[in-house]
Amino acid sequence: MATINDNYLKLKAGYLFPEIGRRVSAYAADNPDAPIIKLGIGDVTEPLPAACRDAIIEATKEMGDRATFKGYGPEQGYLWLRDKIAQHDFQSRGCDIDASEIFISDGSKCDCGNILDIFGDDNKIAVTDPVYPVYVDTNVMAGHTGDAAADGKYEGLVYLPISADNDFTAQIPTEKVDLIYLCFPNNPTGATATKEHLQAWVEYAKQHGSLILFDAAYEAFITDPDLPHSIYEIEGAKDCAIEFRSFSKNAGFTGTRCALTVVPKNLTGKASDGSDVELWKLWNRRQSTKFNGVSYIVQRGAEAVYSKAGQAQTKELIAFYLENAKIIREQLTAAGIKVYGGTNAPYVWVKTPNGLSSWDFFDKLLLNCNVVGTPGSGFGAAGEGYFRISAFNSRDNVNEAMKRITDKFKA
Ligand SMILES: *Cc1c(COP(=O)(O)O)cnc(C)c1O
Repeated sequence: MATINDNYLKLKAGYLFPEIGRRVSAYAADNPDAPIIKLGIGDVTEPLPAACRDAIIEATKEMGDRATFKGYGPEQGYLWLRDKIAQHDFQSRGCDIDASEIFISDGSKCDCGNILDIFGDDNKIAVTDPVYPVYVDTNVMAGHTGDAAADGKYEGLVYLPISADNDFTAQIPTEKVDLIYLCFPNNPTGATATKEHLQAWVEYAKQHGSLILFDAAYEAFITDPDLPHSIYEIEGAKDCAIEFRSFSKNAGFTGTRCALTVVPKNLTGKASDGSDVELWKLWNRRQSTKFNGVSYIVQRGAEAVYSKAGQAQTKELIAFYLENAKIIREQLTAAGIKVYGGTNAPYVWVKTPNGLSSWDFFDKLLLNCNVVGTPGSGFGAAGEGYFRISAFNSRDNVNEAMKRITDKFKA
């Protein structure tokens, strides 16, 4: 009989979103007419920018015509897309990143997990708490952890709290770790990292020979001109960081699928014989072997993000979600609820009122306001007492949800 990867048995069976779904379904079954508004899910709601849609249609026509048909593309992505990314996203911000260091993929979620293929099993790994669950679960699957304790923390991982106590910065560890996952602007807290904070991380990484896995999925939501969009804006980061980016949140590609990972060429890791090996070579080999590239059609769609029209349309898209976030922030604040994030990120991180637990506040919002959010405790122990509200929704839904909450809590 075939045996299985026992590490999968350590996973806490996708607890958060199924449990939300269960509670919402139970409530809806008892109250079939309840006008439930969901502000819980981290998915976009607006359609593709017209520039991207049109480019996808054109590319589809090319694929249907013998003269312009294309088969397999380069596993790393087409150079015309990688060139545009290098120029617009990195070189224009003073980052010395070359197109050859950019790998196009079908998602940052996959890349965050797949990157573990090129690392050893004996690394000490740090994640923030609360955290995007993908970083943790992929390490559990790879056998890099022990079992989960009652508070949900896995044995063997180093958890770095992000909370009001440290002003929502990722606390730099006192011990030496080898791999560190950072995500700024942060999901779920909506917190951002200043240049000084990232500089401190880069210094830590260089001092300890650590590698930072920097998830910049929400960089497009940064409006504050002083905040860095890329970790490569920090001096020395090219020697100690891999960066993940995605078209999911800036251009509505969650259902279209296109992302990228930057692996600088001079970045190295240690082999077991003590030699330094270029990570770029390993990732290139990994992608060439296990991946056959993103479809030509989708890459043309992503390329259109960098056209004049695409830039204007994605800017408008981001401004729309940020206005939602502003409404959420202002209305909740007016209702006497303390909020964080939501100014350079699509997530508002709410301190639950009256010391309610995350799940108690969830139930209260569902029952009294018919509004669904995400309990902060579902993202990690340090998220207890917090609640995530997403700005990904229609303006009408946001206004209506906030009206219900303020009506309920203002009194
Ligand atoms: C949405 C999101 C991504 C993007 O994932 P894709 O697979 O590219 O859609 C990456 N990281 C975080 C933290 C996210 O919330």
